[in-house]
Amino acid sequence: MKELNEAILKWGRANGKDVVKVDMFLNHRIDTALMFEMGEELARHFASAHPTLVLTVEASGIALAITAAHALGNIPVTFAKKSATVVQDGTMAQAKVFSFTHKQENIIRVDERYLPVKSRVLIVDDFLADGQAVRGMMDLCRQLDCTVCGVGIGVEKGFQMGGKKLREEGIDLYSLAIIDSIADGNIHIRE
Ligand code: 5GP
Repeated sequence: MKELNEAILKWGRANGKDVVKVDMFLNHRIDTALMFEMGEELARHFASAHPTLVLTVEASGIALAITAAHALGNIPVTFAKKSATVVQDGTMAQAKVFSFTHKQENIIRVDERYLPVKSRVLIVDDFLADGQAVRGMMDLCRQLDCTVCGVGIGVEKGFQMGGKKLREEGIDLYSLAIIDSIADGNIHIRE
């Protein structure tokens, strides 16, 4: 997506060989116009799959999930949580996720009331690297007998294997931008 590619080239910063910082516009300070355009583009791609709910994981996937869900006709967004809460009063489905950025295993959890059985789920996240977060969300969907009708991603790092494997499995994965490599601090985006 042209506008996202331009924002990555303008604001994105390479951090080492495999991390891209996009705090200026995507997941700390948020460019709201761009975020709504991204949501609309995801909706254009996935509308024909008729999702009934968008699932993401806190926190940085939430903004894109909301704009996509809004563009899909105001369907609900549910986000999986990364920490347990003392005020929890429902049954939680849980899945293990190894965090690429924090290098530790997290448990993501979702109250079963907010991911109803048989939902048609569009999974959305800001980044795709090794695919752990997406697979954790797919696991939650499997546990609750939901159908994953697609995976929409803001930025895929094409030099990590997550996207390749999901596509090989026949999953409709649509990434709005794909970064092919980071070399000498420069970010190279797939045309
Ligand atoms: P995966 O689970 O696919 O290995 O990694 C995706 C998750 O890790 C996303 O939820 C995202 O928040 C985070 N992540 C992975 N790589 C990057 C990156 O290069 N930059 C940022 N900002 N987040 C990343």
